[in-house]
Amino acid sequence: MSRADLIQIAYLVAAVCFILGLKWLSSPRSARRGNQVAAVGMAIAIVATLIDSRVVDYAWIVIAAVVGGSIGAVIARRVQMTAMPQLVALLNGLGGGAAALIAISEYHAHGALGETSLGAVAAVSVMFSAVVGSVSFAGSLIAFGKLQEILPGRPITWPAQKVINAIIGIVILALAVWASVAVNDPVLWVAVGLALVLGAAAVLPIGGADMPVVIAFLNACTGLAAAATGFALGNVLLIIAGVLVGASGTMLTQLMSKAMNRSLTSVLFGAFGGGATGAASGGSGGEALPVLEISPADLAAQLVYARRVVIVPGYGLAVAQAQHPVRELADLLGERGVDVTFAIHPVAGRMPGHMNVLLAEADVPYDKLLEMEEANPDFPQTDVVLVIGANDVVNPAARDDPDSPLFGMPILEVDHAEHVVVFKRSMASGFAGVENMLFHDPKTRMLFGDARKSLTQLVQDVQAV
Ligand code: NDP
Repeated sequence: MSRADLIQIAYLVAAVCFILGLKWLSSPRSARRGNQVAAVGMAIAIVATLIDSRVVDYAWIVIAAVVGGSIGAVIARRVQMTAMPQLVALLNGLGGGAAALIAISEYHAHGALGETSLGAVAAVSVMFSAVVGSVSFAGSLIAFGKLQEILPGRPITWPAQKVINAIIGIVILALAVWASVAVNDPVLWVAVGLALVLGAAAVLPIGGADMPVVIAFLNACTGLAAAATGFALGNVLLIIAGVLVGASGTMLTQLMSKAMNRSLTSVLFGAFGGGATGAASGGSGGEALPVLEISPADLAAQLVYARRVVIVPGYGLAVAQAQHPVRELADLLGERGVDVTFAIHPVAGRMPGHMNVLLAEADVPYDKLLEMEEANPDFPQTDVVLVIGANDVVNPAARDDPDSPLFGMPILEVDHAEHVVVFKRSMASGFAGVENMLFHDPKTRMLFGDARKSLTQLVQDVQAV
């Protein structure tokens, strides 16, 4: 068996690992295994690529692998769970940038061979990869900047934005055609430069609240750019891996748009979503609306006599790192015969699956987690809902107020339960910067304070009842 055959077999094994990994990643129960299998697939792919006879110099590869691997290991260990979306944005951008650089170097090598034109497949692949990879690189860096609050989270707009972007897009297309028919490095460089401008200009007008959808979309773009690079290099594994990323990114984009009730076009061209803002205005006409509070001791008494309690976790649970006390509370109430479940909104927190990851860390059993569609019909039969650090995902304005920027986003309809208790530190609004009338509902009580402290106190009070 030749070395080339061996490489192809290794690529096939790696591709199977990627597909199995993705399949297992789709359930919290098997996600860890999925991650490990995909990592093994990647290791096989890297080794197989390194034994390729076209590799001429290992020194640079080793230096790059050591530097990149070390940075990756440090970041993976240090990054906070709450900063995961910006890390995903950054890594996605680097993937797009890498695909673009490979395409550019392929193009340059072609020119160095003295050829005047690329074949049709190679030309389309190289141009697609260089342009889309560059758009994804610049767009992802802007998304990173917004989520990291280096840049303002609000939409940044300027006159004739869409027209200017459309003109840049047309110019890039024309340059790409020119560079395809006559190999000419400077033309490609100008196209790549404009693609970087377009990536930044396309993401700047999008508000922080829509960033997760944008990142999923850019992720799909990076995947497709990588697949195109695979075509240019004649590398089957890169084509498969790129297509998998492209397809899963597209599906995630659709799922998240649906969960936020936003069409992709309105996300990309709507200039919506102001990002994290300060306190809400305090009610219509500036008048302070009434807010009723509850103490942990009173809540403890109410909870132990309840039949059914639903816990709704949100971003604040992650900030407070309150997953362990919340599990303790659920266990304690369960021991007293209370039926306790967790209702998970698809965009609660700051990344897809954020709440699942947090609760899994505290060993909350998966059968206690209900998705939004399962949870909503049961709220009318629920005695107490504990909304812990969640805000937008339970905001009734999304259902009732056509003027609200959240209108149309599906929510957990906690206001249909008999009693609602909201754990948060202040009356500040959530990620979308929209006031929440749930806090003023006569059936709602507020338990102000850091969620971890409030829950720890509540656990003690339940034990004392
Ligand atoms: P929100 O951002 O709407 O609300 C979080 C609440 O947690 C705030 O009102 C805050 O109030 C409270 N909070 C913060 N820290 C603490 C703490 N230490 N203790 C107690 N409470 C705390 O979160 P949701 O999960 O309800 O909604 C998610 C939002 O994020 C949606 O708008 C979604 O579209 C968006 N988004 C989702 C992403 C995803 O992929 N899941 C990614 C990016 C954005 P206070 O400051 O008063 O304590």
